[in-house]
Amino acid sequence: MKGSLPFKLVYHDGYDLHLGAHVFPSQKFRLIYEMLLRESLAKEEDFLRPVQAGDEDILRVHTADWVRRLKMGTLTASDVMRLEVPYSPELVEAVWLATGGTILAGQTAMLDGFASNLSGGFHHAYPNHGEGFCAIHDVAVAIRKLQADGTIKKAIVVDTDVHHGNGTAAIFQNDPTVFTLSIHQLNNYPGHKPPSSIDLNMDDRVEDEEYLGALIPAVQQALENFQPEILFYVGGADPYCEDQLGGLSLTKEGLKRRDRSVFEEARRRGIPVATTLAGGYARRVEDTVRIHVNTILAAREVAIAFPSGAAARS
Ligand SMILES: [Zn+2]
Repeated sequence: MKGSLPFKLVYHDGYDLHLGAHVFPSQKFRLIYEMLLRESLAKEEDFLRPVQAGDEDILRVHTADWVRRLKMGTLTASDVMRLEVPYSPELVEAVWLATGGTILAGQTAMLDGFASNLSGGFHHAYPNHGEGFCAIHDVAVAIRKLQADGTIKKAIVVDTDVHHGNGTAAIFQNDPTVFTLSIHQLNNYPGHKPPSSIDLNMDDRVEDEEYLGALIPAVQQALENFQPEILFYVGGADPYCEDQLGGLSLTKEGLKRRDRSVFEEARRRGIPVATTLAGGYARRVEDTVRIHVNTILAAREVAIAFPSGAAARS
């Protein structure tokens, strides 16, 4: 039986971080999956099930000490304070699974032109510590694995979470093979923002037109100049005007245009796209879920409009 989507989605029930009453709605992964099925936007056949990332993959990015503390449950009080989520063995399992999902999305995108992990985007994780709800940098681990396998040499990370991609910037700061672009609210977490290749600093309460007017030309220029072999998209739902941890004023329509525009720029140049989620703390969790689902719909629209990356290039 044929699926509804022209590319694969990556999802596992184990993505739930089981945080309970926390500003991070960790049940959102399941809610996105269910909305896609309920609204017949995807069928079961569209989904791939990831396995947990191997420690050897994680260790290409993270220090052995940080990985050991996570796996053994020996985080210090200050580790947990920086992470801002309570520690549990289930959290570690979910994070390893999400990282496996981003690896699988990257590998699948290289074959199919698109793939979406319905988790990941843990862009605040550093090699030797976690912070801002992010323990392991799934996108960095996936890029390092694709490089180690010889699948790619160069990758770009386009990060549209309302918070600066500090972990991404720090990990790839001196690496000419990975271009990092972050568009975020300047006056927001994290306090220390190590430089990305391009940082687009938005003032408070910036709206759709100004945001898109900054983002799209920067993406075009980066893709032209850098010529990456894959684009990892960190699709934040938190630039939304009703987000509790964000201070920008984008509409749901603006966020979908954002996603579609980035995907179009990549697709027109024959660059595969692997998407991950990222933050989303809308007052109504349904809004966060809808915004993430819209990212998948935007990818579908672009995949249909440009049937194959290779064809688009010729
Ligand atoms: Zn965020």
